Amino acid sequence: MKRQDFLKLAGAAAGCSLVSLRSGLAQAAGGGPAQTRISVKLLDLRLRYSWGLSRGTWTTRRNAYVRIERDGTAGVGEAAPIARYGESAEGAAAFIEKARPVLERDLWEYALRWSELEALAPGEHAAKAALDMALLDWVGKKLRVPLWKLLGLSRERSLTTTYSIGIDEVPVMQQKVREAGDFAVYKIKVGTKDDRKIIEGVRAVTGKPLRADANEGWTSKEQALEMIDWMAGQGVELVEQPLPAAKLKDYAWLKERSKLPLFADESLMKASDIPAIAPYFHGLNIKLMKCGGVQEAVRMAAMARALGLRLMIGCMIESSLGISAAAALTPLFDHADLDGNLLISNDPFRGVRTVKDRLVLNDGPGLGVEGDVWTAAAVSGRTGS
Ligand code: MG
Repeated sequence: MKRQDFLKLAGAAAGCSLVSLRSGLAQAAGGGPAQTRISVKLLDLRLRYSWGLSRGTWTTRRNAYVRIERDGTAGVGEAAPIARYGESAEGAAAFIEKARPVLERDLWEYALRWSELEALAPGEHAAKAALDMALLDWVGKKLRVPLWKLLGLSRERSLTTTYSIGIDEVPVMQQKVREAGDFAVYKIKVGTKDDRKIIEGVRAVTGKPLRADANEGWTSKEQALEMIDWMAGQGVELVEQPLPAAKLKDYAWLKERSKLPLFADESLMKASDIPAIAPYFHGLNIKLMKCGGVQEAVRMAAMARALGLRLMIGCMIESSLGISAAAALTPLFDHADLDGNLLISNDPFRGVRTVKDRLVLNDGPGLGVEGDVWTAAAVSGRTGS
């Protein structure tokens, strides 16, 4: 299949909730018979509640899913593309198609394959994360060990997760908090002109600790400091990305004065970003979809520790596939915000379980995930309701 035809197929899929981009692209690569079978599907994840952030509101999110099969073993991965970085599910599918020659090489050399994927094109971090997951899932299944064990971690050290409350009318946000009574800490999305009403409204229905995520929504350092001072008296224990990522100098001013720890999210993508921003934050929110996968997240965690930073692992709106990959890393982190799978109503996968608010890792090989979006049965079955 020509690249042009592939993209046309991806575009035609845009109106469907589930579309197949099974790539019989073996012939496309040229240079001999293909050994790796690659399947890609796009799926619209439906949100239980509309998902409101300071930069927009969504009721569905389109993610891309990849399956790579080689020597009788299949590894799977998920891309939750981030529009802020110019990504889309269709773009992720196109990158995966472009990555075929890399995936035809030895999959055991997963570290080398990741470097090659990274060099293929700038950006497309979510697609790279999906392929990184699929590579590690494949290796874990071949070795018959779970990812957390492959990384030298213990499932006993997994974390609890916060539960995120998206921006909405205050009574709706209160209802979301009431429905999530098992969680010990809530992450409240703010960054609007009504932030005091939001926090007061949440405080009226729970006395539990809160974390506030402004998603770059406060526009000046003075406004951010005023809100942080006020929130410190409201039981908020940390603030994520109070100012736009571009305002790095203002972060220096804010950190000197802030009563609450400041965590970077949008200011940070990959390990190479850490040295420049480290002086201006107390901690980092690392996400597989921003950094390009598990391997890069592990490197980032090591670098952040060396610089004395606190560590949170976060997520986008993802199914249990992506969340399971991130959950396997939680023993390396201080805080987890891995609730994307709990915010959707059509999760096609089962993997990590959230028991009350504890992330319970399983003993399944690789990512330890079951489920399917690649076959026709999956279309009419689990994802169809
Ligand atoms: Mg955030």
